[in-house]
Order: sequence, then structure tokens, then C-alpha cells
Amino acid sequence: MDFKMTEEQELLLESAREFVNRHFTEDKIKQWYKEHGVPDELTKAYLDAGFGYLGIPEEFGGTPVDNMTICLVVEEMTRASGASTPFMLNSLVMFDMCEFGSPEQIQFAMDAYTKVGKPCFSLAVSEPGAGSDNASMTTTAKKVDGKIVINGQKTWVTNGETSPYVLVVAKDEDPSPQNKNMSMWLLPKDTPGVKTASLEKIGQTIMPFCEMYFDNVVIEESCLVGERGRGFMNLMKNFEMERLIIGAHSLGMAQAAMEDAAAYAGQRVAFGQTIGKFQQIQQKLTDMEVKIQNMRNLLYKTAWELDNGISVQLNSALVKRYIPNAALEVCSDALQIFGGLGYTTETRVSRLWQDSRGNQIAGGTDEIMVYIAGRQILKKYAK
Ligand SMILES: Cc1cc2nc3c(=O)[nH]c(=O)nc-3n(C[C@H](O)[C@H](O)[C@H](O)COP(=O)(O)OP(=O)(O)OC[C@H]3O[C@@H](n4cnc5c(N)ncnc54)[C@H](O)[C@@H]3O)c2cc1C
Repeated sequence: MDFKMTEEQELLLESAREFVNRHFTEDKIKQWYKEHGVPDELTKAYLDAGFGYLGIPEEFGGTPVDNMTICLVVEEMTRASGASTPFMLNSLVMFDMCEFGSPEQIQFAMDAYTKVGKPCFSLAVSEPGAGSDNASMTTTAKKVDGKIVINGQKTWVTNGETSPYVLVVAKDEDPSPQNKNMSMWLLPKDTPGVKTASLEKIGQTIMPFCEMYFDNVVIEESCLVGERGRGFMNLMKNFEMERLIIGAHSLGMAQAAMEDAAAYAGQRVAFGQTIGKFQQIQQKLTDMEVKIQNMRNLLYKTAWELDNGISVQLNSALVKRYIPNAALEVCSDALQIFGGLGYTTETRVSRLWQDSRGNQIAGGTDEIMVYIAGRQILKKYAK
């Protein structure tokens, strides 16, 4: 295992930093958080710079890179900006499309992705009565007179109000818990019968989520993405990469908080000396650094394993269990080092602290990661 970056990766990260420096200022970021979204021009610039096409196969106009490179870019963009961005979620839906869609669907999604000029897709899986327990969802897709009719309610759908397309997961025909067959459907959000309602988030407000209602929504059978009945298996497959991306996002936030806190500790004077000279502050900085190095080692090792065809069923759950939690602790310590100033909107650390909390829930909660990892660990050490 060698984590030395390739020349291409170094160059890519340099251009990610340049992109952030050119387009992001603290004032603009604050505005985007208030407005609950980034301007369309920023999404367009992100696509034009090529970042949005990373990981998408060449035959569809993308730039194939390994999972490690995607994680590095997410980490660096988050670190350099100190902000969450809605871009990667968009790419995650494109990865689903490229993996499970027909060539025509992929081309359609790619064209839409390029043309729309704002986050194009949302992913609707969770329901008010079924979050962690996806199998208990009750939204159904029924075949009626050669068409598909969707009924049900989804919630916490990130970018659901602004994205023109939604990839929705629904039970085939029968909503009962015994029926485990689900499928994925890509549909325009302006299809009659689809409605949304805003939800107020406490962090990551730059990419809001919403409720989504499906009331006798009639779509063509050709909206099916992947095989009928295999939607749950498809979801599981891409959840592994989603966990790594959330890990990279959390790591980037922790690194940004660390940089701000360490710099502040070197400047802020109390009792006649900089606070960085106090042992309790040094202990915080030391523990923060240990956590950051641990996060990075686990993330890169897991990305390397995924890129080398090694199963990451256990390690992707460990990434999701460990990194968001450790990142929140780092951001909380950073806020503490800033004292009263840290508890205001004047600093980035307060935003990083709020944003990092959401990653302990999004993409599978801490507790569900134990549920997944625990069984794997028992298997791994069985005698
Ligand atoms: C920032 C953010 C973005 C999101 N974006 C999306 C999105 O784009 N699309 C989408 O579909 N969803 C999205 N979600 C929803 C997210 O996937 C769910 O919130 C998550 O899966 C948990 O489901 P729940 O909220 O229903 O909690 P529940 O499943 O009701 O869980 C409540 C509590 O019980 C615990 N619990 C549940 N089951 C067990 C168990 N077996 N053992 C131990 N503890 C358990 C949980 O860990 C949690 O602490 C988002 C959530 C957040 C916070």
C-alpha cells in the first residue's frame, strides 16, 4: 500500500484549490448558506472545470479516475473552502445511473447533468416511517395498463426541491414488509402528482432537504433504472462508495477546523501569552491531530482496497462509523479553542461543527454502521 500521490493527483488537487480560491470567499459562502444553495454559475463552473465528470466512464463523456482520487478531491475542496457543497451528491446519482442505467438512460442523464447548470438529481429513499429500516418503505410502483403508477412519501431528500430529476426507490406492487422487492425509477420532478415541502436543517443548509410526495404519479416503464426488484441490492452496492465520500467530506471539515484552531491558538493572547502555550490547548490540538491522521489512514486504506477489488463491506462501515464522529469531536474542540468567538457566525469552525453533525446520520447512522460492522467482525474473527 503506497499512499504517495501520483503527479496527476497532485495536479488535480492543485486545480481544486485554485477553483476554490477563485470562486469561494467567506462572504459568498455565508450568503449561499443563507440562501440554501449555490448559484447556477458556480455549478456550471464546477462542471466546466471538469470536476463533475470525475469517475464517470469515458464513453459517456466523463473522466475515469479511481475512488481514491474522488475522495482526495472531495476532501481537498471541503478543506480549502471550509464549506459543504452540493456537488458530490449529484455525482453519486450519476454513478448510480452509469452503473445501472441503460446506455440511452446514461446518455440522457449525462446530457441533463451538463445542460441543467445546477444540481440536477436528488435521491429519494428515506420515508417518515422507514429510514434506517429501508425494507419497511411503503412507497409503491405498480404496473397499471402498461404504465407505472407511484404512490407514497419520501423525506430528507437532499436538493429535492431544486433538482429537476429524482431517482426514487419504491417497492414493486406490494407495500407489505414481507415484500423485499424494490426498484429504482428516474423521473422528472415536474411529473404531475409529484410535490415537495421544505424542511429546515440545522447544518449543511447550503444543500437543503425536503419532503417529497407521490400521488398517483404515472410514468413510463422505461423510467426503470437497472433490473426490476434489484433496487435494494443496487443501493447497497453504491452505499459503500457513498460512505467513503461522506468520510472524505467529514475529514475535509475536520482538517479545515484544525487549521483554523491551530492558527488561532498561536495568536490569541490570554494571561500574557498565546493560548497555544497552555498545555490543555496543546493536548486538544494533539488529540485532534491523532484523530485526523487516523481518519485519513482509514479512509485512504479503504479507498485503496475498493480500487484493488478487495471487499470493503466491513471497512466502509468502519469509515462511516469512525470518521464523522471523530470529525465532530475535532470541530467541537476547534470551537472550544476559539472560546466565545467560536460560538458565533464570525468563524468557520461554528459552521464546520454544525455541518459535521449531519454526517453521523446521513448515508446511514452511526448505530447502523455498528449493526453492519458487528456482524462482519464476528465473521472475521470466528474460530
Ligand atoms: C444531512 C442529511 C441528508 C440526508 N439526505 C438524504 C437523501 O438525499 N435521500 C434520502 O433518501 N435520505 C436522506 N437522509 C435521510 C437519512 O438517510 C436517514 O435520516 C437515516 O437513514 C436514518 O433514518 P431515520 O432518520 O428514519 O432514523 P431511524 O431509522 O428512525 O433511527 C432513529 C435512531 O434509532 C437508531 N436505530 C435505528 N435502527 C437501529 C438498530 N437496528 N440498532 C440500533 N439503533 C438503531 C438510529 O441509529 C437512530 O439513532 C438524509 C439525512 C441527513 C441527516
